Amino acid sequence: MNQPQRFITAPAVAFDLAAIQADFPILREPVRGGRLAYLDNGATTQKPEVVLQSLDGYYRHQNANVHRAVHDLAERATTAYEGARDRIAAFFKATREEIVFTRGTTEAINLVAYSFLEPRLQPGDEILLTGMEHHSNIVPWQLVAARRGAKVIAAPVTDSGEVDLAAWRALLSPRTKMVAIVQVSNTLGTINPVAEMIAEAHARGIPVLVDGAQAIAHLAVDVTTLDADFYACSAHKAYGPTGFGVLYAKREHLEAMTPWQGGGDMIRTVSFEGSTWNDVPYKFEAGTPDISGAIGFATALEFITRLGIDAIAAHEHRLLEEGTRRLGGIEGLRIIGTAPHKGAIISFVMDCAHPQDIGTILDQDGVAVRTGHHCTMPLMQRFNVPATVRASMAVYNDSTDLEQLERSLYKVRRLFA
Ligand code: PMP
Repeated sequence: MNQPQRFITAPAVAFDLAAIQADFPILREPVRGGRLAYLDNGATTQKPEVVLQSLDGYYRHQNANVHRAVHDLAERATTAYEGARDRIAAFFKATREEIVFTRGTTEAINLVAYSFLEPRLQPGDEILLTGMEHHSNIVPWQLVAARRGAKVIAAPVTDSGEVDLAAWRALLSPRTKMVAIVQVSNTLGTINPVAEMIAEAHARGIPVLVDGAQAIAHLAVDVTTLDADFYACSAHKAYGPTGFGVLYAKREHLEAMTPWQGGGDMIRTVSFEGSTWNDVPYKFEAGTPDISGAIGFATALEFITRLGIDAIAAHEHRLLEEGTRRLGGIEGLRIIGTAPHKGAIISFVMDCAHPQDIGTILDQDGVAVRTGHHCTMPLMQRFNVPATVRASMAVYNDSTDLEQLERSLYKVRRLFA
């Protein structure tokens, strides 16, 4: 076969894809003089009209610094900002005290590493990761481990791209002081059985952080049912703005932790003799926050809720199946990450061309994908590839995007094979 295949993806549930697409103005943006097929959602998603309007509306009608003034605009800004915390807490079915605002997943994990884990670490202790973690869920642990003489270890990944659970289990020991797991791998798409893993770690008294960066926009997340001690995510991968994210943490942990950054807002009293801390979650939020980020994220989460996470997941699953079939028909193309339980991410290599060259050809055809190590260098070593091409889907993608990708990959073969 050397032609794109024809697929008709009939929605299983009421799902007005055309209306959803119309809601994302950037999808109408011509690129390289043609139609954009945006398949780089693992890196960041595009933003719907409601989110754009919430950001614009905040700066037009509410902008002032929060928490510290009595004037009308400051009250409006504070109400909108703290209202966003309630809206975000509602999405996660958590309480507002458990929602710490951060710059994103990366900062949330660093906060836990420095503020929660470091004071508890002794020489010889271990932090157990998996072989498919993003650098953001590796390096912060390495930094605190080095300061304490502790060690980061990782469970192996199988050929299909799943955590080897038996090996992971065997690595849990009295030395393990923290477990950190990615919920959905940004490179492989694998959905990890985090609920089961959390229960197993807890049975041994080990706290768990879940990296939910690739999860919240794609599958139902209820952090309280999961029983995660910590859950980190970024707004920009879930239709919200960049530079904003959330750390969910169990209140008892937040109460016991000391702040990791000092500054305005996180204090109750300050004198030159010493300072006392604000209540949770504020004691972890030093300085003027990203006010519009919080409002934009709350709006984005409500956008997800309105569409329905199950309908989103079903649509993306159809795209995953269709994309896997289309790419599976291309000679010399190998998909990396074939777990049965996967999100809509397809990483692949081709025997005829380097991922960088493939990405360049795809770009000429308006197909936006990511090429490289995807901040998962240990996974590249595991699969013995220098890099992959990654197509990652979101709610607004459709068969036309996948056909555009497939067509362009045939061109790669014609040019390089
Ligand atoms: N973890 C995973 C699984 C990710 O995909 C990413 C972003 N690529 C991160 C963590 C880091 O997110 P951010 O850069 O928004 O902090």
